[in-house]
Amino acid sequence: MISANDPSLTSWVNVPSNSDFPIQNLPFGVFKTAQLSARVGVAIGEHIVDLKSLHVLGYFENLPFRIEDFDTDTLNPIMKYGKKATRDLRNRISKLLRSGVTDLQGKEHHVSQVLAAMADAEMLLPVHVGDYTDFYSSIEHATNVGIMFRDPANALLPNWKHIPVGYHGRASSIVVSGTPLRRPKGQQIPNDATQPVYGASKLLDFELEMAFITYDGKALGESISTAEAEDFIFGMVLFNDWSARDIQKWEYVPLGPFLGKNFGSSASPWIVTLDALEPFKVAGPEQEPKVLDYLTYEGDKNYDIDLTVYIQPEGGSEHVVSESNFKYMYWNLCQQLAHHTVNGCNMRNGDMLASGTISGPVESSYGSMLELSWKGSKTVKLGDEGERKFIADGDTVIMRGHATKDGVRIGFGEVSGKILPAN
Ligand code: MN
Repeated sequence: MISANDPSLTSWVNVPSNSDFPIQNLPFGVFKTAQLSARVGVAIGEHIVDLKSLHVLGYFENLPFRIEDFDTDTLNPIMKYGKKATRDLRNRISKLLRSGVTDLQGKEHHVSQVLAAMADAEMLLPVHVGDYTDFYSSIEHATNVGIMFRDPANALLPNWKHIPVGYHGRASSIVVSGTPLRRPKGQQIPNDATQPVYGASKLLDFELEMAFITYDGKALGESISTAEAEDFIFGMVLFNDWSARDIQKWEYVPLGPFLGKNFGSSASPWIVTLDALEPFKVAGPEQEPKVLDYLTYEGDKNYDIDLTVYIQPEGGSEHVVSESNFKYMYWNLCQQLAHHTVNGCNMRNGDMLASGTISGPVESSYGSMLELSWKGSKTVKLGDEGERKFIADGDTVIMRGHATKDGVRIGFGEVSGKILPAN
């Protein structure tokens, strides 16, 4: 059987050469149009394959899914069937869309029913997120923050190279790309003041991240090993962990992020499966000192995914402010999931686990304005449209990501969000 990732595969559906969504990708999402109620879809080129209609027309024979699993506004029902079932589903769709396979190709009556134009579709948040965790897994980011806020000589705290540090965030305020967010208000402590003030955040920031989405894990009390971890991960999205630095700075001691984070986080709408990302695996950074046994792993577990952040001022154009790569992560997905469950914590279908800010080794690859402006001590140019230290009202922050190998480009589309003034 030809792998769904084979670089030689082409589709009878037109795919522009720079598309994020060739037949080797086939990411899952939830969409609706003026005519179609919310349903599960798969992206191909500039179209969305309507999986509900494919099922109704009988193309999912011998797969376990029911029509109602696709006739819904989340991917949770199909993820309930687990990795093998969703892998079989992606393989079936790959085959149906493949050049030279005539099961669906050429059946114009069926094709017009199952292909929707992406331009006509509204994308929804693809999963109902039960629990959201944010890690802190970039050594460059953790080092930069440590230098700025603590001690340049001891930038990393003693636990950092032993534990994939993380915190539990809030799922209710995760929104899909394109959803505007309001500048948050809260307590801040002005420089040199001893008493806090209340008001709109002045130091609003983005964090360039990626997040993975889990299937149901093991029962409460059991752990997932690094070797088992990929069996419990459906796929990944781009993720902007919006952060209000002034609120965060005052509140975070001793228990960590709270209101400086939970006013909103933005996710891209297409979940790129771990299967589609398999060809883009690369070795991660060397881990020294050696990690404890339960965090050891075999094989390449990092992913070479180019990431770019843009700021678009109100009425203006997009300006690149950061170019990073997911391969820089010190802790990989398998280590994060193994650590998260080592105490018996149970993962559930639709849980979202974000990477933490993805900063690279050079300044232009820093994944937040906090680092790019070095705590507001310098400015970031937006071409001929001004400069920023943090995010201004009316700014749209856009993140895009893609992996390229053997002439195949697998993309994530984008996550974007506009900041509205505080009310
Ligand atoms: Mn974060």
